Amino acid sequence: RQAQYRRLRDVPSVTKDGERIALHINAGLLVDLPHLEETGAEGIGLFRTELQFMIAERMPTTGEQQALYAQVLAAANGHDVTFRTLDIGGDKVLPYMQKVEEENPALGWRAIRIGLDRPGLLRSQVRALLKASAGRRLKIMFPMVATVDEFERAKAIVERERAHLVKHGYSVPEDLALGVMVEVPSLLFQIDEIAARADFLSVGSNDLMQFLFAADRENRQVAHRFDPLSAPGLRALKTIADRAKAAGCPATVCGEMGGKPLEALALIGLGFRSLSMSPAAVGPVKAMLLKADVGAVAAELERLLADGSHHGSLRQALAAFASAH
Ligand code: PEP
Ligand code: MG
Repeated sequence: RQAQYRRLRDVPSVTKDGERIALHINAGLLVDLPHLEETGAEGIGLFRTELQFMIAERMPTTGEQQALYAQVLAAANGHDVTFRTLDIGGDKVLPYMQKVEEENPALGWRAIRIGLDRPGLLRSQVRALLKASAGRRLKIMFPMVATVDEFERAKAIVERERAHLVKHGYSVPEDLALGVMVEVPSLLFQIDEIAARADFLSVGSNDLMQFLFAADRENRQVAHRFDPLSAPGLRALKTIADRAKAAGCPATVCGEMGGKPLEALALIGLGFRSLSMSPAAVGPVKAMLLKADVGAVAAELERLLADGSHHGSLRQALAAFASAH
């Protein structure tokens, strides 16, 4: 199997009916970078910047952050890297930051909420990213955005830092793309407004499904109780794919769904053309894509979703369809 996947490394990721699907990897540390070459992935679709903060004994300085980002970009060797700003809080606590006791940490003070309330932290990270990407392309995305206003405020912080660097004679990225993670269901109901303002969207399906079904992803009793491959899960994802496309805004999926072959098949059937996954998933997902007929999957999904008789998981129906084709 492993050898078979390695042979797929340089095979273009194009479906049987000619749709090109961009495959990216998720990463968080410098040691993850060699996987780019090993897998033949197009780039890093999600760089989890909190990893550096979680393994440190104290808050990394702006200079230390900048050094890591510069090393990541150098190791990526021209491949795109999408940096996600700090996604801490919830289950990811920093030992050196004062812990806030919360009844529901997943719904609490985390990610962009901390970034906007403690702008010093976000500004330091943004400055490190801008400096590390001087003269090249920089892609930043914000986690746990729940409203258009939060994205606008995060964007304003980036713009202010950029202007500050320019004013002081630093060179800045020649191209700056600012994206939003779609992982809070409220964004589904302002998806047109977000897609019109963002340079790209990235679906965090782990959190999106946790919040959509109100089922704690860390709680074994309920984490697998609801299947994303069911009408509500698939319709939510289809809304994002459709509205992003209508707005001309590129949309990726970077949650675990994208790394599972059957789920990935459903995602491309819903209209996604870019997925980001753990490096080990690239081979199996690509092997599936090469045999997939996206047009047929899309038609089957449409049929299943239009047919009101499917109340539960559509996993078996999709698996049966996949093996028959
Ligand atoms: C997600 O929520 O799907 C995601 C990619 O982010 P994380 O797993 O880091 O919360
Ligand atoms: Mg998430």
